Amino acid sequence: MPQKMIANTCLTINLNAIISNWKTLDASSAPKVKTGAVIKANAYGLGIKYVAPALAKIGVTSFFVAFPEEGIHVRNAVGPAPKIYVFSGFMQNCKKAVQSANLIPLLNSLEQIKSFQSIMPTAIFGLQLDTGMNRLGLEPAEFAQIRNIAPQADLIISHLACADDPNHPNNQEQLDVFHRMTDGLNVPKSLAATGGIFLGSDYHFDLCRPGIGLYGGLPFVKAEPVVSLSLPVIQIRDVLKGETVGYSATWQAKRDSKIATLAAGYADGLLRAMGNKHLMLYAGKTPCPLIGRVSMDLLTVDVTDLPLPIDRLHLLNSHQKIDDLATAASTIGYEILTALGERYNRCYIGI
Ligand SMILES: *Cc1c(COP(=O)(O)O)cnc(C)c1O
Repeated sequence: MPQKMIANTCLTINLNAIISNWKTLDASSAPKVKTGAVIKANAYGLGIKYVAPALAKIGVTSFFVAFPEEGIHVRNAVGPAPKIYVFSGFMQNCKKAVQSANLIPLLNSLEQIKSFQSIMPTAIFGLQLDTGMNRLGLEPAEFAQIRNIAPQADLIISHLACADDPNHPNNQEQLDVFHRMTDGLNVPKSLAATGGIFLGSDYHFDLCRPGIGLYGGLPFVKAEPVVSLSLPVIQIRDVLKGETVGYSATWQAKRDSKIATLAAGYADGLLRAMGNKHLMLYAGKTPCPLIGRVSMDLLTVDVTDLPLPIDRLHLLNSHQKIDDLATAASTIGYEILTALGERYNRCYIGI
């Protein structure tokens, strides 16, 4: 079902900020280390159609997606040259997609390797190793069984489970396992996502593959914010001291107040858990508290101290970023980004 746009909402996506974040991440590893871009889940919700060409234009030549269908969209957006790797690897029903979009599956089990070799014996592939995360990838004993084909791989990757915490002992352990499994193999290797880049050059190998850092999220502390979100005020009402606002009457006016009702809610990715958590909406630089529960399509904001009238307020801007919303909702920036729904008008700026 096509979803209705909310009149006057604006989710602004700054492509120049994405580019700048990529360049900073790329500069965080040695010049001989390449930097790709992870654009799974529609570029973390921000739009493959715009994000992929912007990155291709500045010279990104390796893209990563979760599933073949996403790979087709990337191929359509970037043309024939860049490599497009698929994290989920190869399933029998995806031969057409892999072939037509020239995708590189990162094979991650003996079963996938067998099936890929019988269905697409001459096609390019990569390998994904499990070094301790226990999610996807060949375990050391399995890898030993197919080691004879490893030199033909285009890329060998593994993924770190705890890279957002530089002090976590699993990082070094996974690094050691990756070395034990791949040392001596003359094939390009990749271990680091955004978090891994900041663990230092030992983790960089031949190719880093950041995702969240490109889009302005932690653990890239100095990332430029990429998204801003402004929401229209539908109405402003007077609420007398002692009256309550919203579901379950969780907010009570301590003074006579002016309350603005805004047109977006948890159906638009503004998670209900963000309610009553000291988040702000901004009129320029002036913060106004989000009050009461987040409804499905509505938010309420205390604008008593603001010069009125006001027709829109910002939830995401340079003062309040995706990780601030994430903290309020006890989640991570990744989930905030990918939750931002399709109901907003999207404006792409830059490049
Ligand atoms: C999502 C993902 C990435 C990107 O991770 P970020 O933390 O967003 O940088 C890299 N590699 C794999 C295997 C992934 O699943």
